[in-house]
Amino acid sequence: MPAMPPTPAAVPREIVVEARDVRKNFGGLLVLRGVDLTVRQGEVVVIVGSSGSGKTTFVRCINHLEKIDGGRLLVNGKPIGYRLEGERMVAESERAIARQRREIGMVFQRFNLFAHLDVVQNIIEAPVHVRGVPKAQAVEEAHALLARVGLADKAAFYPAQLSGGQQQRVAIARALAMKPGLMLFDEPTSALDPEMVGEVLAVMRELAENGMTMVVVTHEMGFAREAADRVVLMDGGMIVEEGTAAEFFGAPRQPRTRAFLSRFA
Ligand code: ADP
Repeated sequence: MPAMPPTPAAVPREIVVEARDVRKNFGGLLVLRGVDLTVRQGEVVVIVGSSGSGKTTFVRCINHLEKIDGGRLLVNGKPIGYRLEGERMVAESERAIARQRREIGMVFQRFNLFAHLDVVQNIIEAPVHVRGVPKAQAVEEAHALLARVGLADKAAFYPAQLSGGQQQRVAIARALAMKPGLMLFDEPTSALDPEMVGEVLAVMRELAENGMTMVVVTHEMGFAREAADRVVLMDGGMIVEEGTAAEFFGAPRQPRTRAFLSRFA
């Protein structure tokens, strides 16, 4: 009998983020004490945990906004911020790091839009100046992205004329304009008024449903439950529990997870 072709489920999806024993300290403070995490293409991994547990630091390390002090952190198979020369890890040039970062979109708690640029100018800035996309094409793509985040009518507005939720949706569109293979979200709704949280989470859900690989730090347990393929709990600079959303919320194994979740009950 001829061999059956592998079913799609049997083909492991490509690994986008691979963290092994990642360590980071600030001065004497050990903030990441050996983080292990694998994120495959199309996966949505939500990181939860108490304030100070190292979530932001870990996500910033993935983007090389922070430099790791130990372990390995690969994005798309490449060590972030380093290259291997034989067995030796050699620090990459700023230029090479910038090139690696282009593949990674990041959305912060604060939207960080350019105040003196209108919405479209904010979105086309990096594609035009970093990727060299022709301006007319970048503008066209910006309009399509604005439609995707529900802001087609705000193209000519300046950030100060928009609500926090709208600014955050522009920030997401701006990150997407670079066509990243990975999107990092660091508490994207924490700075928003409660009534604006839903519109930003809806955009993130749409991205998740359309196959974007995402690592999301959030306190929005509803989003984690519905959109996450996997949820991880960080505590004291380590991942202490990891599971599907159903496992994590339905049958947490660790007392620390149960204690954490009880605060949201
Ligand atoms: P979380 O996102 O889970 O709230 P963080 O990663 O922001 O946690 O912070 C983890 C710990 O690292 C905290 O104790 C915080 O004060 C410390 N920390 C974060 N960034 C810095 C920094 N740049 N310098 C010194 N300490 C920092």
